[in-house]
Amino acid sequence: MSGASRASSHTAGLTERSSTAIRVEGISKTFDTAAVLHDLSIDVRAGELLGLLGPSGSGKTTLLRIIAGLDAPDRGRILFGDDDATGLAVQERAVGFVFQHYALFKHMSVADNIAYGLNARRRAERPARPEIKRRVGDLLDLIRLSGFGDRYPSQLSGGQRQRVALARALAVEPRVLLLDEPFGALDAQVRKDLRRWLREIHDRTGQTTIFVTHDQDEALELSDRVAVLDRGRLEQVGTPDEVQEHPASATVMKFLGDHV
Ligand code: ADP
Repeated sequence: MSGASRASSHTAGLTERSSTAIRVEGISKTFDTAAVLHDLSIDVRAGELLGLLGPSGSGKTTLLRIIAGLDAPDRGRILFGDDDATGLAVQERAVGFVFQHYALFKHMSVADNIAYGLNARRRAERPARPEIKRRVGDLLDLIRLSGFGDRYPSQLSGGQRQRVALARALAVEPRVLLLDEPFGALDAQVRKDLRRWLREIHDRTGQTTIFVTHDQDEALELSDRVAVLDRGRLEQVGTPDEVQEHPASATVMKFLGDHV
């Protein structure tokens, strides 16, 4: 895929300054009477892997859904680069997502699953068939499932399915990749392997990614920067080292400290 040669961003948190890919600006959201997000702002840098960490119910999924366009905020804006994307429908946002239970299409082969987003485009925007085939081949290589294109989801392990789901999300070359506990349902060893593998893929593609997890180890191991959410408020954003060494609040300290 064309993004494969982009530079790694793993050092972004240390020295480099990069541009803002996504700006979340003063987002608030209430469901029924419960306020779920409170005036939340955060900049996601181009090419970074941002871990969105917080206890269950802290608003992580809601924020991701708002960025994706699956939910609308009550207040605030979502900017993609300089463009206001707040009013755009999900199909117009060029986002890719993988959710824990966002299943593959069972009746489609692995290759057709990966090509789905490209095939679904209007004719004028759809790549030619050989180009789609080439891109699917590159993605199968990337997820280390070359030769699996003709298989069906039922013939794959859980971890392999999530890798295909990731390839499907990457196929459309999204502005941002949104991952919501994508390995949540898998067992500990598979989960650990996939973490390492995701980091590797990210280093090779430089794809701007937001990764939701309630698992501190996962966030600290994977992320360029970690954003810690608690009860709908952003407590702190920083590199894994920064948030561990200089927690901005007692809440962050407690939450990060709980696992050591
Ligand atoms: P997290 O991803 O951090 O676990 P969520 O964003 O899923 O948190 O949920 C935050 C809060 O918002 C929870 O209390 C949840 O019950 C509530 N919530 C989320 N979606 C809805 C919805 N569609 N309707 C009503 N309440 C919701």
